[in-house]
Amino acid sequence: MSGAILILSGPSGAGKSTIIRQAASRIEPYYFSISSTTRDPREGERDGVEYHFLTREAFEAGIEAGDFLEYAEVHGNYYGTSLAPVYKALAEGKLVIFDIDVQGHRLAREAMGDRITSAFITPPSLVELERRLRERSTESEAVIEQRLTNAREEILAIDEFDYVILNDTIEEAVEDFVALSRTARLKVGRRECEALVGRWLGRD
Ligand code: 5GP
Repeated sequence: MSGAILILSGPSGAGKSTIIRQAASRIEPYYFSISSTTRDPREGERDGVEYHFLTREAFEAGIEAGDFLEYAEVHGNYYGTSLAPVYKALAEGKLVIFDIDVQGHRLAREAMGDRITSAFITPPSLVELERRLRERSTESEAVIEQRLTNAREEILAIDEFDYVILNDTIEEAVEDFVALSRTARLKVGRRECEALVGRWLGRD
């Protein structure tokens, strides 16, 4: 069987990266899609690990060349998912995990909806999100305010997702995420269905 796609969206500070990190050994084989972005690296972030950090010019050249499965402008910067590594990981039978915003989720669904499982991840309330963002405090006040404003918008798209993970305690959120990863692998795309029927009938 070829791989599947699991899209995670939700406000910055929802705990997506922590959840993935803590679940990592239990969801193999997977490929975490490294997005490209024009935003500046945060302290400790490395090019090619958390993101591919690109100039606006390089990003726009990538758009022109059709390199992106989807891209969006978030908080005033471009963010996008390159197609090539996604196809490679899918062909290797991996679960491809995206951490993208709600606009990206919409676009990816249009392109590859039959292979996508999606979840919106959020802390239980806006108040709790704000507390976590301040605790993380790697950002200036203006950036935190922008993220909170964005979160108020993003939560309105929650009903576009297949599942919701309320990240109240990290342990429970990790369990939910592991279960979701298993479920995502059970989704069978159109082309795979045809191949499966062929095999099932003994035609191959
Ligand atoms: P951050 O700057 O906190 O790393 O990410 C900001 C937002 O950009 C998050 O909501 C994250 O999900 C979103 N994001 C990250 N990568 C991508 C991407 O490749 N495409 C889209 N559409 N959004 C992304």
